[in-house]
Amino acid sequence: SGSNHNNDAATVILMGRRRSGKSSILEAVFHKMKPWESVYIESTAKPEVLNVASLININLMELPGQIDYVDPEYDNSQMFRQTGAIIYVIDAQDEYYGAVRNLIRVVEKAYMENPNIRVEVLVHKIDGLSEEFRDDTVRDIKDRTSEMLYDGGLESFAGIDFYQTSIYDQSIYEVLSKIISRLIPELPSLEHLLDNFVQHSAIEKAFICDLKSKLYFVTDSSPLDSKIYEVCAELIDLSIDLDSLLGGNHDDDSSSLEGSITEGAITDGESTPKQKRLRCVSKLSSGIKLYLHEVLKDLCLIAFIRDDGIGADDSATLAVLDYNAAIFRKGLERIFHDRL
Ligand code: GDP
Repeated sequence: SGSNHNNDAATVILMGRRRSGKSSILEAVFHKMKPWESVYIESTAKPEVLNVASLININLMELPGQIDYVDPEYDNSQMFRQTGAIIYVIDAQDEYYGAVRNLIRVVEKAYMENPNIRVEVLVHKIDGLSEEFRDDTVRDIKDRTSEMLYDGGLESFAGIDFYQTSIYDQSIYEVLSKIISRLIPELPSLEHLLDNFVQHSAIEKAFICDLKSKLYFVTDSSPLDSKIYEVCAELIDLSIDLDSLLGGNHDDDSSSLEGSITEGAITDGESTPKQKRLRCVSKLSSGIKLYLHEVLKDLCLIAFIRDDGIGADDSATLAVLDYNAAIFRKGLERIFHDRL
């Protein structure tokens, strides 16, 4: 580890057999494709590279399944040496023994080139399996994988994890977020910064999310509840929709819009001109409050606040959040000073 210097991006490669769902995952998460539209997409024929975010540098590369990347003829040593993680997609609805065999060959080869590599196995299209069958399927895939790793003398390889995913629900976002956040070299500092934000704002949970994909890159160190991430991700969609509905590009910097969304210009330091940043506050009928603030381009801070029962004044809460978000942003600038 320690191979990620500040300016070179960590590479993640997405592999798996044909039709396992690789293109659908990328389209759904990064290009806003609706899950049901994936039925019509073509299977990938050539490797594609996608830059996830400008600040947090991750390149995602999709490799088409029909090329045999572990063929000795194909020189992939360079590729595996530069890779932080391999995401291997297995279709849970199909016969998967062949996929597991292929996965083992990939692990053997990748581990030989780069012993620090992480392998993340997505047991994908899990939506097609009945609830009680899901865990059994994952367990079976896991057991088979361990057996085969053992046979190959790789039983000590600890860098492999299994997840259940589907593009029809939130799981793919949550799992990709987890995988990507592990590759961010600045993660400990960012987590610390979020912990401070949570403590000083008396909120329950905070995230740093990518506005475009809704993936979270960092969350504070308290345990993550999927439901909380789900409502926070929904807030991103809502903020963006409202912003475009209300004409996000008008440049009156004192504008304050009616309703639950307010949007203001934030001074972007001395050297750069003022820029429009998204800011949105939402109050649910349950009393939960959500706060979204774009702190750097396409990167937003989201706070989840549960009703404390004291009936704290909304505008006071908001003032505290704004104040602490500004401090948080300063902290981000310190961490990423060489890239801003
Ligand atoms: P690729 O060849 O690995 O890129 O696979 P595709 O992305 O082309 O997907 C193959 C098929 O799987 C398509 O018909 C998709 O609609 C379907 N698919 C992808 N993800 C999911 C999922 O999460 N659930 C279900 N039920 N089908 C999926």
